Amino acid sequence: MSTAFLDLSEVHAPCAAEMQATFARVLHKGHFILGDEVAGFEAEFAQFCGAAHCLGVGNGLDALHLILRAMHIGAGDEVIVPAHTFIATWLAVTQSGATPVPVESTAGGFNIDPARVEAAITPATRAIIAVHLYGEPADMDALRAIADRHGLKLIEDAAQAHGARYKGRRCGSLGDAAAFSFYPTKNLGALGDGGAITTSDTALADEIRLLRNYGSRIKYQHDIAGYNTRLDELQAALLRIKLRHLDAHNAQRREVANTYLRELASVAGLQLPQVPEFVEPVWHLFVIRSTRRDALARALQERGIATLIHYPIPSHQQGAYRDLVCPPLAATETLAREVLSLPMWPGLDPAPVIAALRELAVKP
Ligand SMILES: *Cc1c(COP(=O)(O)O)cnc(C)c1O
Repeated sequence: MSTAFLDLSEVHAPCAAEMQATFARVLHKGHFILGDEVAGFEAEFAQFCGAAHCLGVGNGLDALHLILRAMHIGAGDEVIVPAHTFIATWLAVTQSGATPVPVESTAGGFNIDPARVEAAITPATRAIIAVHLYGEPADMDALRAIADRHGLKLIEDAAQAHGARYKGRRCGSLGDAAAFSFYPTKNLGALGDGGAITTSDTALADEIRLLRNYGSRIKYQHDIAGYNTRLDELQAALLRIKLRHLDAHNAQRREVANTYLRELASVAGLQLPQVPEFVEPVWHLFVIRSTRRDALARALQERGIATLIHYPIPSHQQGAYRDLVCPPLAATETLAREVLSLPMWPGLDPAPVIAALRELAVKP
């Protein structure tokens, strides 16, 4: 008996027949780029998020990059990013020509600490990218107040937070624009790469519509030097099916998370995620902290329990950023040493994971 970290075939099983039929339908239609399926998904996902517009793009990194491009953020500009995030948040800033300026997490949590943002603002700062890390919304009201005070754009990296709510409002409607990824393992995942941008800014949406499609509104007429990064029809059609299951899947994840929180509360040596009362996370990942993280992961592996680390090397210590001048980021480096992601997917039975962690606590 072993527990996988994520079992996508189990997640897909209930809608596998519908997905097969959709594949046949799209194949038969023979229209694969920017057709009805993408338009349909965009309308449905915009409504789901509570945003006026949704634009399907090639992946989550491109979604972030196109937002920055459409905001005309580039060389000479600075963008505040969480120090503790997946590197794509930083890479989007770098691709735009701007400089990422890292800010560390809140004391007990994983998301960017609004109290530390203001000290990182300079005359070159143009935007803040808030990441709703592990599916937990960042403190957007606090960030919005800072952004407004300094005339900055506020961008959501919602790649891990499809369906999550902050004070009742969905991620994807909380900033000036939001980037989503539909990488297969995300809460709303395609069967390949995919991404989207949501925004209620019509001018921004129009510019992104050009940027994703060669800078073209009318075929063979190119108003700006754009890119080719589009969600394709087949992925959009499959995502429309999965979107209908998203709230139910997130509720199942919440049930697993609540079981972990309840059953692991008394296990010594584990720091469990602390969720502020104003957010409703969607538990993309269930991340605990332990000062004996590597030994714990090995012991769990020996008992057939798969775990992962999100993320083992902070962005500022990656080769990609060897030339970036950064402030000391000791708390981020500690997080990278201590975080451990437990198995999490809709429908997972967490009992074997809980049993193993309890057994390991008594036999260190
Ligand atoms: C997955 C992810 C991305 C990038 O999405 P891709 O579709 O893989 O390009 C960006 N930010 C965060 C926080 C992510 O988890």
